[in-house]
Amino acid sequence: MKTIGLLGGMSWESTITYYEILNKTIVEKLGGYHSAKIMMYNVDFAELEENMSTGNWAGNAKILSEAAKRLEDAGADYIVIATNTMHKLVPDIEKNISIPILHIADTTAEKIKEDGLCKVGFLGTKFSMTQDFLHERFRKAGLEVMIPDEADIELVNDVIFDELCLGKVMESSRKEYQRIIASMKAQGAECVILGCTEIGMLITAEDSVLPVYDTTLIHAREAALKALKD
Ligand code: GLU
Repeated sequence: MKTIGLLGGMSWESTITYYEILNKTIVEKLGGYHSAKIMMYNVDFAELEENMSTGNWAGNAKILSEAAKRLEDAGADYIVIATNTMHKLVPDIEKNISIPILHIADTTAEKIKEDGLCKVGFLGTKFSMTQDFLHERFRKAGLEVMIPDEADIELVNDVIFDELCLGKVMESSRKEYQRIIASMKAQGAECVILGCTEIGMLITAEDSVLPVYDTTLIHAREAALKALKD
């Protein structure tokens, strides 16, 4: 079994789910007392959040590149970044390491394509919704991506940072997300990507009128399966 280098803490609330899925997937495949071989670097999210709000992406690139290098030096076989937004920095992190990064957008796109879907609604942070670092990979995989309107982009983003990343799950926010998903359906979306690793705390398949592709669940499962591949 390979050793997974998990870059976590962004936020720690969703890293819990990664840890659980990584281990559960290994147990599902190998049974008994098996568990995942994981090395985790849990960042202080306050530092990264501060850098995001001031636009200091270089600062975040430095923190994550150094963390990934430490995981590589400690013996990790590949890196799993447990957040969508920080995938913006994959090109910077890759320059600092020689082991691969399992990309969250690629694993998600692959699953959606397997299911034969094409037109996807995408919910995530403002950065992930309005910038191209995830969408370009979705498009490359043949997906057509739809995002909410400007006011709802703000709403979705605020719920992530002001509530979910702080461990708060509010029924009123669930209703707003449900409204936005229903509107994406009305505009032709065939499914919705929960493109932020905390959204699964608020929205599950049962809460959604569209089929849900939760990046946390897909990414973590693929990361565990990769550990068992040659
Ligand atoms: N975990 C979130 C994501 O998947 C947001 C927090 C962050 O900026 O890393 O995008």
